[in-house]
Amino acid sequence: MRYAQHIAELVGHTPLVRLNSVTAGIRPTVLAKVEYFNPGGSAKDRIAGAIIDAAEREGLLAPGGTIVEATSGNTGTGLALVALQRGYRMVFVVPDKFAGAKVATLRGYGAEVVVTPTSVEPTDPRSYYSVAARLAAEIPGAFNPNQFANQNGPRGHFETTGPEIWADTDGRVTHFVAGIGTGGTITGTGRYLKQASEGRVRVVGADPEGSIYSGGPIHGYHVEGVGEDFMPPTFDPSVVDGYERISDAESFAMTRRLAAEEGLFVGGSSGMAVVAALRTAAELDEDDLVVVLLPDHGRGYLDKLYDDQWLAERGYDVPTRPVDPVVAEV
Ligand code: PMP
Repeated sequence: MRYAQHIAELVGHTPLVRLNSVTAGIRPTVLAKVEYFNPGGSAKDRIAGAIIDAAEREGLLAPGGTIVEATSGNTGTGLALVALQRGYRMVFVVPDKFAGAKVATLRGYGAEVVVTPTSVEPTDPRSYYSVAARLAAEIPGAFNPNQFANQNGPRGHFETTGPEIWADTDGRVTHFVAGIGTGGTITGTGRYLKQASEGRVRVVGADPEGSIYSGGPIHGYHVEGVGEDFMPPTFDPSVVDGYERISDAESFAMTRRLAAEEGLFVGGSSGMAVVAALRTAAELDEDDLVVVLLPDHGRGYLDKLYDDQWLAERGYDVPTRPVDPVVAEV
């Protein structure tokens, strides 16, 4: 018999799949690392185990303890899998920009969820960072993973995502493209791939227009999970060789194409990363090999970027479909 002892053991070892349609006219092979194959549905499952293992080792979290984290959803889901495996209580603090499916998901895993206003400064006592810090201080036995500062996040990617890509491409990867939220993915994975390739692999950061990482004016944007308005300690910019700055419109259009043309039903930050990967690949040759990381599944965005009306109301292009008169009549 072959089975896992717990769902949390099934994190990682996600597949690479070639992009076939959106890559028309592009010379190199572009492979997507599809992180929705993780049991919580995103790359964030990887950091949850690394962070909780370290907290237990360091005595920061003990049986009966509570995990308190500010998270827009995916990190919460990853932490929930580990919390359920090991019997911890979970309290998640979520900005109201993300209320909806992601909050319902966390509650579905049995977590307590506190929703806070998005449009306040991080230092405001109502901000999701401040509320999480206060709850972590007030709840006895609480541990606050603080994904924006916890170095075990990037380490989780250094120890799993990087080696998987290296092994699955037989060391032939030449470019790695990923979005940057906490920066954990690109820092850990990029660092590993650079070490393994003795500096040969180029690392490209995909960043939404309006975010701090790629320069230019800082303002709001709709793509979720990526970009920041401050530099988190989990991001090491020295790993990144260049940035692509991507508009929400481009990200959403590409996300819908990935679903409709490639069968990859992913979130908006995946579309953003693929736009960056294609811009990178357009400059390369047949013998280059681009790997782009797709962080999460699209089901958290059904009432957003997968809703044509939501797109139209915000001025984004709505995908056009050929109209079959027979079907249209029904
Ligand atoms: N995309 C989504 C949907 C995410 O939730 C995250 C995590 N914030 C990222 C991309 C970026 O990953 P990282 O935090 O490792 O930079």
